[in-house]
Amino acid sequence: MIVVWRVVDSCNLSCPFCAFDKRLGFPRTETAPQDILRLAAVLADHQARTGDRVLLSWLGGEPLRWKPLEQLTHAVRALGLEVSATTNGSTLGSPNVRRHVCDA
Ligand code: SF4
Repeated sequence: MIVVWRVVDSCNLSCPFCAFDKRLGFPRTETAPQDILRLAAVLADHQARTGDRVLLSWLGGEPLRWKPLEQLTHAVRALGLEVSATTNGSTLGSPNVRRHVCDA
């Protein structure tokens, strides 16, 4: 099972075709970390009971700019789930972000 989760709708880029273009003036939101942990626990239980491997995939906006994400990645991985992300790549110059991506 693959679960794609738009954890933030903010982005640092301004692609003109995109609903999350940073120039668009709507209030940006982010997911409550405790909600992610609650659903991850449910998914881990599903995986354990059925053997159906679960991949939780972060989506934005730009998810790698969201501060809680690295800790959430580690928590979700500790539950036995796989993790991936869709990114615009703009933060990959940071060694910390690269470490986070490689850890996932
Ligand atoms: S980088 Fe992605 S999320 Fe950001 S504005 Fe462009 S298409 Fe949208």
